[in-house]
Amino acid sequence: MKVKAAILSSPTTPFKIEVVDLEPPRKGEVLVKMMAAGVCHSDWHLVTGDTPHPMPVVAGHEGSGVVESIGEGVTGLAIGDHVCLNWAPSCGTCFYCIRGQNSLCSAYVGPIWAGTMQDGSTRLSLNGTPIYHFSSLACFAERAVVPAVCCIPMRESIPYGVSALIGCAATTGIGAVLNTAQIAARSTVAVLGAGGVGLSVVMGAKHAGASQIIAVDKTEAKLRTARDFGATNGVLSDADITEEIRFLTEGRGVDYAFEAVGLPYLQELALAIIRPGGTAVLAGISPVGSATNLPGAILTRQEKTVKGCYYGSSVPARDFPLYADLYQSGALPLDRLISKTYRLEEINEAYEDMIEGRTARGILDLS
Ligand SMILES: [Zn+2]
Ligand SMILES: [Zn+2]
Repeated sequence: MKVKAAILSSPTTPFKIEVVDLEPPRKGEVLVKMMAAGVCHSDWHLVTGDTPHPMPVVAGHEGSGVVESIGEGVTGLAIGDHVCLNWAPSCGTCFYCIRGQNSLCSAYVGPIWAGTMQDGSTRLSLNGTPIYHFSSLACFAERAVVPAVCCIPMRESIPYGVSALIGCAATTGIGAVLNTAQIAARSTVAVLGAGGVGLSVVMGAKHAGASQIIAVDKTEAKLRTARDFGATNGVLSDADITEEIRFLTEGRGVDYAFEAVGLPYLQELALAIIRPGGTAVLAGISPVGSATNLPGAILTRQEKTVKGCYYGSSVPARDFPLYADLYQSGALPLDRLISKTYRLEEINEAYEDMIEGRTARGILDLS
């Protein structure tokens, strides 16, 4: 079938809307009518070249939609199901999955980074030339063929935009707090970066009963937004952040710092602003090949802990429905993350707004 999609042909070029060919789902795959896709920094890393990827590619890894047809051997999904897409599918049986570390599953990593489906081929093409799929999802398109294991059924009452956010930013940020750090009630928390992931950290920390949530970002507008989500304090990034945070925490530093951007200097800052015995959680995706200087002498003498957090250390089949429930109960106001909605044709404008910090989270309305 023919579908409209946003194609990235090479790094540092704009997305281009093209009508491409999409093959039907094969064994273990599902065709999803895309309804919403989040404008996330991880796709932008393909544009900047920070994440090397085969091209041309259809990016988009934060999506939701409706199951339209089902390939051979798929169980547990039906046509018409609303689904949230999981960009880190897990097999359930490998070394990591049986230990509940599904975000580290080793079974799907190869094809995902090759930009193909599990059988090594693509379902997308343009004039006979294969087009690669980012994260096996490729959801910057009207329709997507995805592995059935990527589809987590969602209640129909969950808005598509909220469901898309649960597929990446919300799960990364909330999971960083509830799964990776497992913060205790009354903890003090700092969040470096108040974008989609950082604001999700704020929501997660509030839900977990943090006594103090200090947001750090570049503009007053972003700090105001963070306060709306539950931050108790805001620190501008051109301030002496370490000093300001010590001042706000009786000279000690915070119990937990969450780095939600993916920049080495902020990862180092996260270590500096935690108190002795505190934990720094690195949840932002940093450029492939980047390096961070974490001083071993301080880690040892001050018993500081650094934790990596990939996809919120989540188990999507367990966590996505939980976050949807918490959204519906009012505990996680995920809909308020969506500051602007765009059409697929407006994708370049959506990314410009994200880079300029004009949006908490933009969503492409693909309905
Ligand atoms: Zn696995
Ligand atoms: Zn993402």
